[in-house]
Amino acid sequence: MRIAVLSDIHSNLEALEAVLARAADEGAEATWVLGDLVGYGADPVGVVERLRALAGAILAGNHDLAATDRFDTRWFNAVAEKAIRWTREVIDVDTHAFLADLVPRGRTDAGLLVHGSVVDPAAEYITDTTVARASFDAESFSVCFFGHTHMPTMFVRADGGRVEGVVLADGVAVRIDPAVRYLLNPGSVGQPRDGDRRASFLMLDIDARTAVVHRVAYDIDAAQTKIRDAGLPHVLADRLAEGR
Ligand code: ZN
Repeated sequence: MRIAVLSDIHSNLEALEAVLARAADEGAEATWVLGDLVGYGADPVGVVERLRALAGAILAGNHDLAATDRFDTRWFNAVAEKAIRWTREVIDVDTHAFLADLVPRGRTDAGLLVHGSVVDPAAEYITDTTVARASFDAESFSVCFFGHTHMPTMFVRADGGRVEGVVLADGVAVRIDPAVRYLLNPGSVGQPRDGDRRASFLMLDIDARTAVVHRVAYDIDAAQTKIRDAGLPHVLADRLAEGR
């Protein structure tokens, strides 16, 4: 069984289409989405329509919660807040109803799924080993998939209890050892922030016990043009070219 793990799509339909095409080439039979379907980009309705047709699991991120009035945008910067206000105005009743049903945490046979962290699934960023340790301590999962930071990373905890952080490079397979615990982040489909402008996602092979991040080039110009034409802050278009 092969699963494509996606996160932080942020209304970027061009990036999503490129990732789904690559996931199909890699033999994906299901798709898990770790939240932030909307926010920042110009295609919230298109992205939700595409994702809801797929088999798998979908979580809400803080932006999806904010778009459906379940997260206080006081915690958002001005640009993110503007994009959420725009998103609320343009989504139709169906899209709103779909997003309003999503929650930031889920469970599958192959692991725990959260948007932010195990401690705070909606909002906490797992950016270092101290925060990662708190998530390992909070529950007894063996593998947990998380998003929110827009960085393809992994935190591992072996028997001795030491927690280590690792950057997940394009195409490098991680072997999942049953004696080790994992927190795995696929990176961001629609707004990568690690300096690589290509969309990021993770392929999980449950039988082979491997996880591999893939980076996928997509039509950034088209996504940027839509953002500018929508009247969204231009910085949201500019950053896509930089991957920051
Ligand atoms: Zn996000």
